[in-house]
Amino acid sequence: MSGTLYIVATPIGNLADLSARARAVLQRADLIAVEDTRHSGRLLQEIGTRAALLSCHEHNEAQRTEVILSRVQQGDTVALISDAGTPLISDPGFVLVREAHRRGLKVVPVPGPSALIAALSCAGLATDRFVFEGFLPAKAGARQRRLAELASETRTLVFYEAPHRILACLADLCDSFGTARDATLARELTKTYETLVHGTLQSLHDLLQRDENQQKGEIVLVVAGTARREQALDAAAEHTLRILLEDLPLKQAASLAARLTGLKKNLLYDVALGWQSGKV
Ligand code: SAM
Repeated sequence: MSGTLYIVATPIGNLADLSARARAVLQRADLIAVEDTRHSGRLLQEIGTRAALLSCHEHNEAQRTEVILSRVQQGDTVALISDAGTPLISDPGFVLVREAHRRGLKVVPVPGPSALIAALSCAGLATDRFVFEGFLPAKAGARQRRLAELASETRTLVFYEAPHRILACLADLCDSFGTARDATLARELTKTYETLVHGTLQSLHDLLQRDENQQKGEIVLVVAGTARREQALDAAAEHTLRILLEDLPLKQAASLAARLTGLKKNLLYDVALGWQSGKV
């Protein structure tokens, strides 16, 4: 009889968020695969598990997959946890779970905290449809290209970002999505310095520039999708309109952009007005 591979969510800051079921699974597991044995040590000590620990991180996941799944095949109960939150969400585990399915093994989720859902649930932005983008590319050029691709996305967008890149990320977002787009910065969720700030991309950028403390800690950025009328502009038309707006009054820029792009003047005027009304 094969055993089971449990994918167990753990707290993202507040240890009280560990579910009773997660605790029970971790207590009775034969083996727990963890990203970092030292990091998870505190939590597992508090739980009082008898399980052996095995490190499984992005650099050794392929090799650990064999070890972990052979234990499951022998009938053991194995749990996978990450440093925080739900494994596989911007964390290791995909290679392991995919291979477990390929071998016909039982994979069971033990759901719980994830910064993505925690941030989305209190961002005050549409949640009926959303896209999770995880971490944007670290290099400016690649990040800007990715954001240009996402500028016409109508669903709410969720990003994870590192503290040392958040300001540059917000500046790039202002350039690609327009300064007026609504967004929420969710910082240090469930921890002592938990902060939620809602505003336009520009106002969030300015706040973080003024107050470096707001750049610290763990951050999720939730950004509203584009309004449909803005989506009517393709990237080239939007680029044209933005350039004209740098040197011309709104009405003239919209009129000239209409001649250059073949789009309706009113549409271009409305979109430009939307951008400008959000400027701080
Ligand atoms: N697996 C985790 C999850 O389910 O949320 C995410 C792991 S990812 C490597 C770490 C990133 O998640 C952080 O850089 C940050 O963007 C976000 N994050 C994790 N904990 C957070 C918290 N307490 N508050 C805000 N963001 C958090």
